[in-house]
Amino acid sequence: MEATEFTVELVRKVDDSYPVVVGRGLEKKIVEVAGRGALADRRIALITDSTVEGLISAAIAREFAAAGRPIEVIAFPAGEINKTRATKEWIEDQLIARGFGRDTLIIAAGGGVVTDVVGFVAATFTRGVPYISYVTTLLAAADAAVGGKTAVDTPAATNLIGAFHQPRAVLIDVDRWHTLSPAQIQDGMGETIKHGCLADSEFFEVLEDAFVRRGLSPKDFVDDDDLTSLTARRNCEIKRDFVSSDVFEGNRRMGLNLGHTIGRALEAAMGYTMSHGQCVAVGTALQMRLGERFGYCSAEDVERFEALAGAIGLPYRLPDSVSVEAIMAAMAHDKKGVAGTIRFVFQKGIGDLMVFEGGAYARPVDTQLIREFLAEQSRG
Ligand code: NAD
Repeated sequence: MEATEFTVELVRKVDDSYPVVVGRGLEKKIVEVAGRGALADRRIALITDSTVEGLISAAIAREFAAAGRPIEVIAFPAGEINKTRATKEWIEDQLIARGFGRDTLIIAAGGGVVTDVVGFVAATFTRGVPYISYVTTLLAAADAAVGGKTAVDTPAATNLIGAFHQPRAVLIDVDRWHTLSPAQIQDGMGETIKHGCLADSEFFEVLEDAFVRRGLSPKDFVDDDDLTSLTARRNCEIKRDFVSSDVFEGNRRMGLNLGHTIGRALEAAMGYTMSHGQCVAVGTALQMRLGERFGYCSAEDVERFEALAGAIGLPYRLPDSVSVEAIMAAMAHDKKGVAGTIRFVFQKGIGDLMVFEGGAYARPVDTQLIREFLAEQSRG
């Protein structure tokens, strides 16, 4: 018999738009958002981690109960170490044991670990259920909240197994930042100042005014209504602008990797003992110093970045304890790299990105040149 072939025609037009709500005390708001349209008839599971459970789950459960819509709370142990396939399976078993089915609405309440693993549960539970993210850390508000990337880590690499699954809504409750430590605020500021560098010079200036000129501490920052609201909003808007034009990271979304070529490699080379935000700050500073040599930004731009990072308490130089070879090895293994080349996103001054031949947002840089550059930088 001769093989035959036919086409299953399936051209899909998808509208995955969703609102991002920024404010304080959003426990009531989440009840309203979960009651919109087809979400209103669903049974709700609020899934969180053990730390955030103690901070917010009772208040949210109270609001839902008052609205006549009781919810179930499922909490897994906090921490990146638990962002695993085993945790995903445990959550799924909890949902099944409690009789949740296709009519489930999940609320993922917490930082980036929660939104990543719970978003992934939502992507596959009964082949996909809707979820709302209630984001409680600055880092997650700056990066994980918008974009629809969900994942778990494996021993081979972080975020290796996952799916694109867009939330139905994102709520960023700035009140939740009061219980973050100064180090967690600084961590989130690493991604925040990166956003200023790549897309918004005015936002960068507002941050310079707050931290360099007025000398705000992380605690002052959290108490400042205007600044926190602007920070949450601009982070999400900038990420949205890049993501909505390139959902699956073909090219433009790569712009968000500013500072990450060296940043991610540094994180791995340091055995994850430095926070992601700290590594991104160092990576962004070094990308600027390298970019200065190519004429992409000026010495003054580099000084401004370093002054801002320093005022926030973020590092901007390579730590003495890391070897250049360890960073080079980690860069070569980066899963976002293209085999055999190391590619960098470069900023154009402050507030814009370089666009290279053919509209590319990243360009390859010669490996030997990077090695020599890093060796110089590590000599201080
Ligand atoms: P996290 O969720 O582990 O939060 C850090 C710690 O803070 C945890 O112990 C958590 O319990 C605690 N916490 C959360 N909210 C708190 C609050 N309001 N007060 C006090 N403590 C609180 O992680 P994170 O730092 O928010 O984010 C890092 C994770 O985000 C990483 O796993 C990273 O891969 C992921 N991420 C994902 C994306 C994406 O696009 N999906 C982007 C960036 C980062």
